[in-house]
Amino acid sequence: MNARLLDEARDLSIYTAYNTNVDAIVYLNGGIVQRLVDEFGADAVKKRIDEYPREIDEPLDFVARLVHALKTGKPMAVPLVNENLHTWFDDHFDYDVERMGGQAGIIANLLASLDFKRVIVYTPHLTGRQAGLFLDRPNLLFPVVDGGRLAFRHPREAYRENDPIKVNRIFEFRAGMTFKLGSETITVPFSGRFIVSSRFESIRIYTEPALRPFLPEIGEEVDGAILSGYQGIKLRYSDGKDANHYLKMAKEDIMLLKRRKDVKVHLEFASIQNRALRKKVIYNLFPMVDSVGMDESEIAYVLNALGYPKLSERIFTYNRIEDSVLGGKIILDEMNLEILQIHTIYYLMYITLKDNPLTEEELRKSLEVGTTLAAARASLGEVKSPQDYRVGMNVPFNERGEYVKLRFEEAKRRTREYKVVITPTRLVKKPVSTVGLGDTISAGAFTSYLALLRERGAL
Ligand code: AMP
Repeated sequence: MNARLLDEARDLSIYTAYNTNVDAIVYLNGGIVQRLVDEFGADAVKKRIDEYPREIDEPLDFVARLVHALKTGKPMAVPLVNENLHTWFDDHFDYDVERMGGQAGIIANLLASLDFKRVIVYTPHLTGRQAGLFLDRPNLLFPVVDGGRLAFRHPREAYRENDPIKVNRIFEFRAGMTFKLGSETITVPFSGRFIVSSRFESIRIYTEPALRPFLPEIGEEVDGAILSGYQGIKLRYSDGKDANHYLKMAKEDIMLLKRRKDVKVHLEFASIQNRALRKKVIYNLFPMVDSVGMDESEIAYVLNALGYPKLSERIFTYNRIEDSVLGGKIILDEMNLEILQIHTIYYLMYITLKDNPLTEEELRKSLEVGTTLAAARASLGEVKSPQDYRVGMNVPFNERGEYVKLRFEEAKRRTREYKVVITPTRLVKKPVSTVGLGDTISAGAFTSYLALLRERGAL
């Protein structure tokens, strides 16, 4: 039944922007780490570990934080702030895998694999290395301005070699790996990963000035837009620009997309550590879009930013469905959204106003598309074709989610002005990968929501 709904969604054209990055993965072994320690000397490494650098500005910062992570076996992520170190890393490591990272990149590849009619993806920084991670599919296009007109090319034909690049380097380690730090032999206690994430000034979230005037045309070409990456905005830049500048442009981008046709816009919200920035993104952008997707920890952060610290705290501590429903209603109402989608490990939820054109049953079907696609991705590591959806359909809905759903149905009487629906997730016991599952849920849910609206003549 919901395979048919996915087929209908596949007839849509979708625009997605802004964030892409390269995920470069290294499977560490004792030898690789030993060479690094020997290159810098055990004493220097130990000294730097004691200093505990919070950012990576030179190679020794990296080696020290890596060795520290290996000693404790704790997964960690440390930002790389010095762009010149790209060459150092690329000279020192052979990456075992390079894959697409960033929500816009992940969603573009997913929808293109599913044979959506057209997937227009935009990212402000597109080097050859980044472009090479886009799938080679004819329905995947990048907007360019050619001779003063809007044109579409495959990202691999649209790249610009001098663009900055965001590489997140992921060092996977296994329990039991050993190496020597001076006289000490270190055995890694747990398996995990050490992530060096790029945080450069040069990476900005925006639409290039030459392309911006064509956003109304792009909006007219598509049935929906999925925007993400705002967590990459910084509060301040050394050239004097600040978050307000980029958020103003982000707002205008949405208005431009909607200028010729009221194209539905979904914003995929990711955690933003800095509270001031989080608040700015919420207040500036949520009221501009139709749909927002987020996970359970983000709902608590958002409520905190909106001035509901007690409810936020309750969600963090007890994680009760009643509180998430109440919080969801507040966000929907205060930000004037058409639909809010929340994904948690055990269930997915939609909250809309009572006058939403879709029935609760239809809304539930749309959520099921989201979790089925995520289950397919978790089982296979990647969704490569529409047929892969069947793999997701064979993953059962989890039992805890069924229980939550029962409790939810009992408590539902209090939701008269809203439509609130939930579905348990299809949970894969041993996932091949959990990267991008939230993005996959949101892309599946939003596009099938659009397909149902279209069936109703409401799109
Ligand atoms: P995010 O944290 O935004 O990437 O979202 C992760 C979501 O993916 C969770 O809320 C779950 O709904 C879903 N998910 C996580 N692990 C699995 C799994 N093993 N199988 C299927 N879905 C999963």
